[in-house]
Amino acid sequence: MSPQDTPQPPALARAVLDRAAELRHEPGLLERLRSEPGTRVLAVHGDRAPLRAGRLHLVAADEIVGAVHWALLARADDGHAVLLAATGARDEPPVELTDEAAQWSSLRAVGGDLDAEEAGLLVEAVALARWLVDAPFCPACGGRLVPRAAGWSRSCPDCGREHFPRTDPAVIVVVTDPAGGRLLLGRNALWGERVLYSAFAGFVEAGESLESALVREVAEEAGVAVSRLDYRGSQSWPYPRSLMLGFTAVAAEPGQARADGEEIIDVRWFTRDELRAALDGAGDVELPGGASIAHALIRDWVSGQVR
Ligand SMILES: [Zn+2]
Repeated sequence: MSPQDTPQPPALARAVLDRAAELRHEPGLLERLRSEPGTRVLAVHGDRAPLRAGRLHLVAADEIVGAVHWALLARADDGHAVLLAATGARDEPPVELTDEAAQWSSLRAVGGDLDAEEAGLLVEAVALARWLVDAPFCPACGGRLVPRAAGWSRSCPDCGREHFPRTDPAVIVVVTDPAGGRLLLGRNALWGERVLYSAFAGFVEAGESLESALVREVAEEAGVAVSRLDYRGSQSWPYPRSLMLGFTAVAAEPGQARADGEEIIDVRWFTRDELRAALDGAGDVELPGGASIAHALIRDWVSGQVR
């Protein structure tokens, strides 16, 4: 296979960052790094970060204003630290953007356009920020948690438990017909008037395997029994804290496909030509954005990299 024939991982899963985890337990680490001149900060406001000319716009630690959540994100190639400074979407932003060319942009909207390293850094930052902002209290006793490990864990001073950022596994799947010439996608009720079709997805329930969750979700949402499950890759999707596990599967009886009428309001079989047109922005339907694993699953099938 030539390089262009090799399926690319989903957009947010192409980089292996140096998270410098061995530093996290150094006492006073974040204070020390904040005072080092080479340290840069990725400000996160909800799911948005500053972008300038298509790149992440990192700032100096002394540009951060107000009460923010701090954490160590990574060690850059030059050896300097990259820190997170996060606030919630309803709070004030952690930095005032004085550069007119910089603007707040969401992971969902721009994650597919960033280079691999920056996409990986942004998804790490948004996922950690979400936990730091949304889960300030101990789930066991209600005590207010105290940050530990440079933002990567928190302990409860009342009951002593230690807590870590949670990740919820979710399966996502594109379904082909047995001949491999058509792909089944669904239109979700949440998307309203938009004629947007995407892969089928759902959370893995308690006590369930990935495979069982996938078979159950497709049966519930699209009415078909599937087999020949093929794992395609994963990526974090912090909306609010999912790990999306991507698969392809084959429908036993394509003619039985029908929407559940609640979560999914329509299902439709597409040819490669129809989806190629939609990926190019032509045709009558919209497909999920480039940051999503659904986009990668559809793109790989269209390009013939998946049966
Ligand atoms: Zn507690």
